[in-house]
Amino acid sequence: MSADTQMLLGSQYCSYRVGGPLDLVLLPTLLEEACDNLDFNKKSGLPLTILGGGSNTIIASQGIRGTTFIAKRLMFIEPVDETHLKLGAGLPLAKVCKIAQERNLSGAEFMIGVPGTLGGAIAMNAGAMGQDTASILDTAFIYNLETQCVEEWSAEKLNFSYRMSAIDPKHHVVLGALLKFEPAEAEGIAKRIQASLSFRQVHHPKEPNGGSVFKNPSPDKPCGRLLDELGAKTWSHGGAKVSAMHANFIVNTGQATSTDILELMLKMQRALETHYGLAVSPENRFIGEASVQEAAIWKELTRHGH
Ligand SMILES: Cc1cc2nc3c(=O)[nH]c(=O)nc-3n(C[C@H](O)[C@H](O)[C@H](O)COP(=O)(O)OP(=O)(O)OC[C@H]3O[C@@H](n4cnc5c(N)ncnc54)[C@H](O)[C@@H]3O)c2cc1C
Repeated sequence: MSADTQMLLGSQYCSYRVGGPLDLVLLPTLLEEACDNLDFNKKSGLPLTILGGGSNTIIASQGIRGTTFIAKRLMFIEPVDETHLKLGAGLPLAKVCKIAQERNLSGAEFMIGVPGTLGGAIAMNAGAMGQDTASILDTAFIYNLETQCVEEWSAEKLNFSYRMSAIDPKHHVVLGALLKFEPAEAEGIAKRIQASLSFRQVHHPKEPNGGSVFKNPSPDKPCGRLLDELGAKTWSHGGAKVSAMHANFIVNTGQATSTDILELMLKMQRALETHYGLAVSPENRFIGEASVQEAAIWKELTRHGH
């Protein structure tokens, strides 16, 4: 079993760089090993938490009890035909974009600047610049934690919507996927990649962060612009601060705790509700052993859904 046994902290495994100790981390590199790890964990009866790159996730201050299965080393690449590739769930999204670009295939250009893994992108239906993961997904390979079998899920079964899919990490682990692309001119692909990179250079902060904290209630009501209008770029709580570059991003200025981030999210959410009558739900996920205070804040943050 591929377990890391030295002292492990959540802050090593999420892009916010927050979170307490992790009891046990599994980082398989091979598919068979991943299934063995998951089978073994079921037998052990330990609670299980699934992570990819941790780029959309806040890990609780008290860390994660039981086993944390991190899919980010599942990096197989198997071309199937001219337009289809079978890829491991752990591949970084920028790598998926590059693999497609090398073959003059379009569809993954938006992934160039999105941190995280293919598995996380499928679970979240990550997207940007008018593209999303749903549009290139043919089949996902899912380990079902109930049946302990690997299943093939079609895009229909994944039931994608805005930053949502039918993947429930309490029951399903994405091990990989068959992606389908469109053949395209190299020049057009390169242009779209460059446009995405340039946009991020200007709009996304360099400090540790977890991307957009709230889902936009509709495309014409982007939380970033609305929060900016309310002066949110000056707001902070402890070591957590609303980014000066994007008012729907929270950055860790160095000493932020998970509680600081959640407290600041609550202030942002309440402001959107008070000033615009908008009920927004978190895009960020919160995992691990919450303190009483964190559990109460998360309950309030997710009262409109998640
Ligand atoms: C600077 C920055 C910019 C960002 N820009 C964008 C953007 O433009 N568009 C966008 O959509 N997102 C964006 N994000 C958010 C994030 O990158 C995406 O949501 C990404 O898809 C998350 O992937 P991950 O592997 O890091 O997921 P994680 O944060 O590790 O996990 C997210 C959720 O998916 C689950 N999960 C992860 N891997 C698996 C798996 N293999 N099987 C089952 N469940 C799994 C986890 O349990 C968790 O619930 C941004 C984040 C940052 C930090």
